[in-house]
Order: sequence, then structure tokens, then C-alpha cells
Amino acid sequence: MSGTFPAWMRSAACRDEDPDLFFGPDTERAGDRLRRERQASAVCSRCPVRAECLRYALARPEKHGFWGGMPEEERAAERRRAGRRAAEHRRAAA
Ligand code: SF4
Repeated sequence: MSGTFPAWMRSAACRDEDPDLFFGPDTERAGDRLRRERQASAVCSRCPVRAECLRYALARPEKHGFWGGMPEEERAAERRRAGRRAAEHRRAAA
């Protein structure tokens, strides 16, 4: 891994896994996707840097792939929740 990647990536449980497990094709069928994401989730569940990975993905426009144990839709939902929480904090502070 090159120096341009965050240090935590060196400890990633997916480091030696097939990237296709985490990034499915656009044309993937629902059942195939579910199976693939279950396998990816199993890898993430034993990853020592899962929290770092998820924070990284949520803080960036990483719209594709399975990061930090979360598929794309769950991360998008988490971003929306974080946006609502931030708006509530701003309103409360005003
Ligand atoms: S949480 Fe999952 S996607 Fe993230 S580094 Fe670990 S194994 Fe890879």
C-alpha cells in the first residue's frame, strides 16, 4: 500500500481479500449482492480498524462499495441522520 493511504488501512482485515467482494458490479442482481455483502460483512466484523474505516467513508463521498461494515444505502442513511443532528444542534445553539 502506498504512503498516500491512511495508516489504519495497513491493518485492514480486507487487505488480502478480493476487492470484488466489497465493490460489486453495477449490474449485480439483488440476490448476488446480498450474498456478496454478507461475505463482506463477515470480513468487516473481524476487522480491527472497522471504526476508522467507517469514519473515513462517512467523511468522504465514498458512495460506492462496502466500507466499515456498511453498504452504500446504510452509509447514505447515516449521512442523512448526521446532517439532521447537525441541523438540530445549529438550531439549538441559535
Ligand atoms: S471495516 Fe471492512 S472494509 Fe473497512 S477496512 Fe475493515 S474489512 Fe475493510
